Amino acid sequence: MNTHLLKEHTHKANTLKILLPTSTAGSLPKPSWLAQPETLWSPWKLQGEELTDGKHDALRIALQEQQQAGIDIVSDGEQTRQHFVTTLIEHLNGVDFEQRKTVKIRDRYEASVPTVIGPVSREKPVFVEAATFLRQQTKQPIKWALPGPMTMIDTLYDDHYKSREKLAWEFAKILNQEAKELEAAGVDIIQFDEPAFNVFFDEVNDWGIACLERAIEGLNCETAVHICYGYGIKANTDWKKTLGSQWRQYEQILPKLQQSAINIISLECHNSRVPIELLELVRGKKVMVGAIDVATDTIETPEEVANTLRKALEFVDADKLYPATNCGMAPLSREVARGKLAALSAGAAIVRQELLGKLIKQYKS
Ligand code: ZN
Repeated sequence: MNTHLLKEHTHKANTLKILLPTSTAGSLPKPSWLAQPETLWSPWKLQGEELTDGKHDALRIALQEQQQAGIDIVSDGEQTRQHFVTTLIEHLNGVDFEQRKTVKIRDRYEASVPTVIGPVSREKPVFVEAATFLRQQTKQPIKWALPGPMTMIDTLYDDHYKSREKLAWEFAKILNQEAKELEAAGVDIIQFDEPAFNVFFDEVNDWGIACLERAIEGLNCETAVHICYGYGIKANTDWKKTLGSQWRQYEQILPKLQQSAINIISLECHNSRVPIELLELVRGKKVMVGAIDVATDTIETPEEVANTLRKALEFVDADKLYPATNCGMAPLSREVARGKLAALSAGAAIVRQELLGKLIKQYKS
């Protein structure tokens, strides 16, 4: 790392101290010239050098849109990857993308996935070039998302290790290598996406959280885990309909996460049936509170966002509350995503004012 980057890093440590810093869960829609819009696993429309340039251009736009909306912790909007799990896996040895099997993902929907045929390893960094590029574009704190070990094994067919736990440990080691290089590239927060944590509770508590801790071993930057009810795709919205009037999945995993070495827990809280008091289970941790619903095209009003944040404040200390989106916004239209970013920012601003007002009152009395 050069001294220029080191200087930026000190600067960033301070910016993170702002009250209620906003961020997204990760993905933003891609421009239609780069990939088919409103589609997951959408194929690239460009090739070779044009694709490399196109990804960089899309990243610049995603960054600018976050900045214009006033988002405090920015990301690449996942513009350089096709999918939040498979893009990493594509770069690993031991996985055959030609040999595909249909498996049930998250115990919920069928998908055609690649097969693990031998020991898994990472030959070279996967996201470091894109993270370095993002770092060069902004002095704001940046967050980078990686898939978590359990979600990775759940998006594969394993014909080699024949043990979910063993394969997860191998992935944790690989993720740790990648995370260390992302940290060196100037990433401030490394987030692991673990939607699988919301499904396989016994495994989460037996070895899932331990694997995650292996993935963050030796890191000095902030670390986060994102656990949600998924993108707003039909398989997920159908699943949500079966979960009843109270979604208590978080109750199974938050107590152990509270004890873990992870710094930030990113949760779905807006328009969901998650009882907000479950946030009490991770008291002491920083919480990225989802205050934007990604499963609807309706853009929240700032007041609706503020309401969710106010409710969360009963269970999360103000200095540890990070307003965010419920999940990624990749499947939404760009216009809707822009509206939602602006709503998040405006809603957080309302509550920030209220908190500051309270502080001034306390100081005066
Ligand atoms: Zn999510």
